[in-house]
Amino acid sequence: MKHIKRLWLPFILLFICGVLQGAKPVKMWGKLQVKGNQLCSEAGEPITLRGVSYGWHNLWPRFYNKHTVKWLKNDWHCTVLRAAMGTVIEDNYIENPEFALECMNKVIKAAIKNNLYVIIDWHTYYPQKEEAKAFFGMMAQKYGKYPNIIYEIYNEPMEDTWDSVKEYAREVISEIRKYDPDNIVLVGSPHWDQDLHLVAESPLEGFDNIMYTLHFYAATHSQELRDRAQAAWEKGIPIFVSECAGMEASGDGPLNMEEWQRWIDWMEQHKMSWVKWSLSDKNETCSMLIPRAHKNGGWTDDVIKIYGRHVRRFVRQYNQDIFDKK
Ligand code: MG
Repeated sequence: MKHIKRLWLPFILLFICGVLQGAKPVKMWGKLQVKGNQLCSEAGEPITLRGVSYGWHNLWPRFYNKHTVKWLKNDWHCTVLRAAMGTVIEDNYIENPEFALECMNKVIKAAIKNNLYVIIDWHTYYPQKEEAKAFFGMMAQKYGKYPNIIYEIYNEPMEDTWDSVKEYAREVISEIRKYDPDNIVLVGSPHWDQDLHLVAESPLEGFDNIMYTLHFYAATHSQELRDRAQAAWEKGIPIFVSECAGMEASGDGPLNMEEWQRWIDWMEQHKMSWVKWSLSDKNETCSMLIPRAHKNGGWTDDVIKIYGRHVRRFVRQYNQDIFDKK
């Protein structure tokens, strides 16, 4: 009898470890697809991804590691993370590609290992088309076979026209599709991803699994932007909120909790995925952590700023079903 018990012990331990590892979003939903204006699982069910964005890799590289990925899944209950590779500001990808790729690869590989979706974000506000084509071609070759990957090809066009963003998108997406026929690609629009009315008038044609990003900062943007996005959505435009937050568009100033909640209610009502900005430790409202926060996670409330605590609460609340199922 004793021997039998001993034989079972390793299996019991393995089972307990499996349970403790928690939810497996990518195992659950598989290869994502866009149907009409909705993000869907491989089985065709509408799904909503919710999570956080790392800050610029060149400003806050210390958080780009496998430990934070694991922590953001197991403690914050994220189903998606966004790795924001800076291609402007000092020490960016164009200037120092080795370091940028080291940061990105750590987060992407850990996301794959932890069964999370991960957005590879080209974080910039002006076009760098040739560099972007080469980068995304490389990423698609390396990671295109993994269902975890989402490409965000141009964070926030600032001065471009929709025609020029469209041309940029056509070229970059064509490069991705040479190696990866199916993973989701997120496309920006003029004025920091707010001109969805222009997208609705003339969306990209000839590509599958494309979504358009909407970014908002709740103390600056309100009903007017929601109305505009809603009209685009009603015309069939798939929207992914790859960056948003509760304060002013500068990333600083007071939170507007009422407006922020209105945005969240609106996104939830439309089953739109959302990602909060950002995992960083600057003295500004939108930095979720204080400088004393450890680079590897394990964050208690005393090192998470008020905004970050709200983000963690929201993500946990709205992803609760997914993490209860595990
Ligand atoms: Mg693929």
